[in-house]
Amino acid sequence: MNHAKIRELFPIVNQKVNNHSLVYLDNAATTQKPRQVIQTLKRFYEWENANVHRGVHTLGTRATDAYEGARMKVARFINAASEQEIIFTRGTTAAINLVASGYAKAICKEGDEIVITLMEHHSNLIPWQQAAKATGAILKYIPLQQDGSVSLEDVEKTITARTKIVSVSHISNVLGMINPIKQITKIAHKHGAVILVDGAQSAPHIKIDMQELDCDFYAFSGHKMCGPTGIGVLYGKKKIIQQMEPVEFGGEMIEHVDLWGTTWREVPWKFEGGTPIIAGAIGLGAAIDFLEHIGREEIERHDRQLTRYAMERMAEIDDLAVYGPKNDRVGLITFNLGNIHPHDVATFLDSFGIAVRAGHHCCQPLMSWLGAHATTRASFYLYNTEDEVDKFITVLLAARKYFM
Ligand code: PMP
Repeated sequence: MNHAKIRELFPIVNQKVNNHSLVYLDNAATTQKPRQVIQTLKRFYEWENANVHRGVHTLGTRATDAYEGARMKVARFINAASEQEIIFTRGTTAAINLVASGYAKAICKEGDEIVITLMEHHSNLIPWQQAAKATGAILKYIPLQQDGSVSLEDVEKTITARTKIVSVSHISNVLGMINPIKQITKIAHKHGAVILVDGAQSAPHIKIDMQELDCDFYAFSGHKMCGPTGIGVLYGKKKIIQQMEPVEFGGEMIEHVDLWGTTWREVPWKFEGGTPIIAGAIGLGAAIDFLEHIGREEIERHDRQLTRYAMERMAEIDDLAVYGPKNDRVGLITFNLGNIHPHDVATFLDSFGIAVRAGHHCCQPLMSWLGAHATTRASFYLYNTEDEVDKFITVLLAARKYFM
C-alpha cells in the first residue's frame, strides 16, 4: 500500500490541528472519508437526486438504480446469498434494535434466554435488556477469560435449549480481538437459537463472508468503513427475515393498503418504511468500491501490522497498561497510563494534534469488569502510518513525564 498516495485521497487528514499535523487515531469511533465518497455524494445531489422506487421520470430511475446498485455492492462485499438479505438501516445500533424489536419480541416467551457476552457495546446490550423485559426472557452473559476473550467452553455452558437468540460482537471495540464467530454460530444452531453478529468493528478491517460464517444476522455501520454517517446494514438470512415483522410502518414498505389492513412488500423493502437513506446507501456503495480497490486483504494486513507495531512500541512505556489479549488484535488498543485520567491523556495528545478517544467507550459493564472507570483508545485505519504511531508514542512519553 502506497501510504503517501492513500493519504492524498483523504483531504481531512492533511491538515494541522493545534499547529501540528493531524494524527487521527479515533477510527473505531468513525473513519475519515476518501475523495471518491465525497465526490459520489456531490454527484448524486447534483445529477441524480430524486425519490426512489416510485418516480417514472428519468431522475427517479437513476436514483433507484444507484440505490439498489448499492444494495448489490453490499451483498457482494459480505458474500450474502441474495441482495434481498440486505436491509439498509441508520447504523449498527438501528440494525440491532430492528432485530430486538421485530424478531426477539415476537419469538421470546417467559423463561426463554437471550445470550450475549460481557464485552458488548451498549448498542448490543440495551436492546436485549429491553427485549428481555418486554417478553419475560432471561438475559444471560457469556463470561470472559482473564485476558478478556471468550472461551468456547463457556459458550457451550451458557447457551442451552431455552436460548432463542445469541448476540456477539465480531471484534470488541475495547479489547480489539476477533471472536470465534463460526464456532459460536455452530453452538447456537445446535441448540436451535439464531445468532446476530455485531460487526461494527470487523466490517472495516477483515473480510466477512455471510455464507461461510453462517450467522443469521450481521449488523454494521457505513461511517466506520469510509462511508457517510447515517447509513448501516442489517444482513438477515432470507427465510428468517421473511418471517420477521417490520417495526416501522408507512410509505414504501407496503404492497396494498385498505381502510382496515395492509400487506407488506417483500424483503428487504418491508423494513425500509418511508423515504430511505438514499444518498447514504450510495455513499456506502462508493466506500465499498474504494475499499475493494485498495484490496481488503491489504487493508487487514496493514491494520494488523500497524496495531502490532503500536503494541510493541507501547510496551516500551513504563506504567502503561493495555486491556485485552496481547496478540491477534485488529485496529485498536485500549490502555491506561499510570493513574493519569484518560481525559487528561486524550487532551494532552490533542494539544499535539493527535486524536484518540477517552471514556467508557459505550461499554460500562465491561469497564466495571476491567476495574477501570475509563480508558484511552487509539484506533487505526488504512491511512495511518508507523510514523504517526511514533509521534503518538513520543507524546505519550511526554504525557507520562508531565503528569507523573
Ligand atoms: N457495536 C460496536 C462494537 C461499536 O464499536 C459501535 C460504535 N462505536 C456500535 C456497535 C454502534 O455503532 P453505531 O453508533 O454506528 O450505530
